[in-house]
Amino acid sequence: MLAKNQLLSYWKAKKIIKAEQLFQAFLAIKREDFVLPEYRHQAYEDTPLPLGHGATISQPTTVMLMLQALKPKQGDNILEIGTGSGYNAALLSYLVGIKGKVTTIEYVKELFDYASERLKDFKNVKVIYGDGKYGYKQKYLYNKIIVTAASDDIPQALIEQLRVNGTLVMPIGPFHNQQVFKIKKTKKELKRKSIGNFIFVPLK
Ligand code: SAH
Repeated sequence: MLAKNQLLSYWKAKKIIKAEQLFQAFLAIKREDFVLPEYRHQAYEDTPLPLGHGATISQPTTVMLMLQALKPKQGDNILEIGTGSGYNAALLSYLVGIKGKVTTIEYVKELFDYASERLKDFKNVKVIYGDGKYGYKQKYLYNKIIVTAASDDIPQALIEQLRVNGTLVMPIGPFHNQQVFKIKKTKKELKRKSIGNFIFVPLK
């Protein structure tokens, strides 16, 4: 079984991940608790793993690169679309701290149940069963939104539920040509910047 430290050393040596908080979050949260039991021995290989129901827990490097683009901070109010295993939500929970809040939405009931069970001790995380294309309206807008399934365009509801100066990170494009974009919402427009090509399951 590969150790966590090997992935950490790789990210540090290649300067792929730079933020110290991300290393700490990665050390604090156990990916082996989120993968299916039959894949536990592969938890620290840099590869996506099947969750059933057409979903996968993303490759660790992809997860970290998306979080690095999102820049979660203590106290942030963050929305995630595509809970899957709950692993990314657990990392977000660590990064926003007790004053922050994470809301995560999953479309598949079985995965909602799976993730809810794994996230039950993460008090700042709320797991919602529903269609993430419509976001999840709360009293306050979100400072940051992360989408972990790809679609051809940005769902309008997500733009509306994001604060001005907020950041949205999501994969956009068809299956064979997806790029993850970091999108800044300003008063007038959405500013997009690609952080590279990746492969995601589709947003339903
Ligand atoms: N973030 C996850 C990886 C998720 S894979 C993790 O850390 O494990 C993408 C997930 O998005 C799948 O679980 C899929 O069921 C879910 N999904 C797809 N379309 C969705 C939608 N419209 N609303 C909410 N979840 C959706």
